[in-house]
Amino acid sequence: MNLILFGPPGAGKGTQAKMLIDKFNMVQISTGDMLRDEVKSQSDLGKRAKFIMDRGDLVSDEIIIAMIKKRLQMPDCKKGFILDGFPRTLNQAKGLDALLEDLKIKIDNVIQIEVDENLLLERINKRVSENENIRNDDNSLILKNRIKVYKKDTLPLIEYYKNLKKINTINGMQIIEKVSQDILKIL
Ligand code: AMP
Repeated sequence: MNLILFGPPGAGKGTQAKMLIDKFNMVQISTGDMLRDEVKSQSDLGKRAKFIMDRGDLVSDEIIIAMIKKRLQMPDCKKGFILDGFPRTLNQAKGLDALLEDLKIKIDNVIQIEVDENLLLERINKRVSENENIRNDDNSLILKNRIKVYKKDTLPLIEYYKNLKKINTINGMQIIEKVSQDILKIL
């Protein structure tokens, strides 16, 4: 089973991806995690990406698609994968479609986790005040920019996947366990 998890920053995509990995023995492909690894290793790509990520803007489609192309060809993806945080632009979605066609792979389901903007800000402020797993881009000013970018570049993808009749929407404002249950019901 191959899935796309779709939703604004702070919607709980990472948490739900972990649940699915445990349950179905799939691999999680998080472009955010991949980029953070590049930053940590101080690669050329990491150095370029850091500034963009720290502002909450998007890294270029070319870089992201090349990264995903390499990742999808790794043998562990045969177990099934969850795309978390990708695609984030219409160009990326089209790039992904071309890639999937080449590799003869299909996406079985696109799951959209819907969360209200105020709750996202609340969650991030809580994460910062509790000092838990703080990332460089975890503050309300940058989060506001990430939400703006999400609305402008990523939300239009919903229509794209609706047209392909592949999207299912989940209420992400429920407790984690209920969100998980709703996802499992769909699958
Ligand atoms: P995330 O962990 O998914 O929230 O991603 C953290 C940051 O990495 C984002 O704010 C972007 O700067 C960058 N990033 C992650 N995935 C993508 C993507 N698919 N396209 C462009 N930039 C991305």
